[in-house]
Amino acid sequence: MPAIAVYCSASERIDPVHVQLAADVGALIAARGHSLVSGGGSVSMMGAVAKAVREGGGRTYGVIPRALLEKEVGDRYADELVVTDGMRERKGLMDDAADAFVVLPGGLGTLEELLEVWSSRALALHAKPVVVCDPTGVLDPLRRAVEALVDGGFVQRPAADAVTWTTSPEQALDVVEAGLAARGPGAAPEHVLTQEGLEAGS
Ligand code: AMP
Repeated sequence: MPAIAVYCSASERIDPVHVQLAADVGALIAARGHSLVSGGGSVSMMGAVAKAVREGGGRTYGVIPRALLEKEVGDRYADELVVTDGMRERKGLMDDAADAFVVLPGGLGTLEELLEVWSSRALALHAKPVVVCDPTGVLDPLRRAVEALVDGGFVQRPAADAVTWTTSPEQALDVVEAGLAARGPGAAPEHVLTQEGLEAGS
């Protein structure tokens, strides 16, 4: 069963339309027989996606740093919740557990995670699908900024294209599934950031 990591906002101040987007993505992940890798919080979009996956009969695996257990309200209904000592460990566990990454609108934490899986895919440290799902265009300035960097020669076209931009949950999951199918079953484990990943990618 493919595991999809969803990176998204943990803010409680956002337009509820984005919380609904997260719920829609979670429902679709479950309906299509995937499991969820999440940041292990139960607030905002992060909470909504995990709740919707479970309501749809899917499995959720959450990873949360001890220091954020209170702030992001640890997801006690997760099928498995791992509490880490720090953020780096959290990200490593999430990245390793995921077969693909779906990124929804979010803040600095979400951007950080998107840029990490995007740049490491561009470096061929992994070949997992990286898909942005942004129906409201919140992340469009980022997309345009990267295009400007391509125009300026700072980013190569294939690196910019290592992420796919979509505008609906259905489209996002279609891209994920096509990417997973193209890779075939039993792809070797990869690491987004670790030394093993660097060695495997070199
Ligand atoms: P945000 O997009 O800022 O609402 O954060 C979404 C999630 O990203 C939250 O669970 C944050 O804990 C997490 N996050 C915040 N900063 C970082 C970071 N530097 N690296 C990885 N995740 C982060």
